[in-house]
Amino acid sequence: MKYLKNILARLKIWSGPQRYFRYQFEKDIPETVAPNKIFIIGEPCNQWLSVLKCPCGCGMTINLNLLNEASPCWTFFISRQKISLKPSIWKKTGCKSHFFIKNGKVKWAKGQHL
Ligand SMILES: [Zn+2]
Repeated sequence: MKYLKNILARLKIWSGPQRYFRYQFEKDIPETVAPNKIFIIGEPCNQWLSVLKCPCGCGMTINLNLLNEASPCWTFFISRQKISLKPSIWKKTGCKSHFFIKNGKVKWAKGQHL
């Protein structure tokens, strides 16, 4: 177990802050959220949540509501196999990361350089 943890820690150093995301559709929230994936949760006609790991490397999982009856609410777009999310994602607690996901790429908001 300790051995595995060491490997994971090293992988984290090698990969650095996350710069790209892929997407994956799931019916339920996955037990482990891969750091390079944005999960879109729900049935095809009722996608209600998006789950991703904060790209700064802090390890926090971010849940984004996709239902427009609730606020705040995000919308995702897929174009040429790449995902975009609107509006930007701004963590008010913890690492306070503020970033955009555009065409699968993480774009840091002004003043945030990672
Ligand atoms: Zn973070």
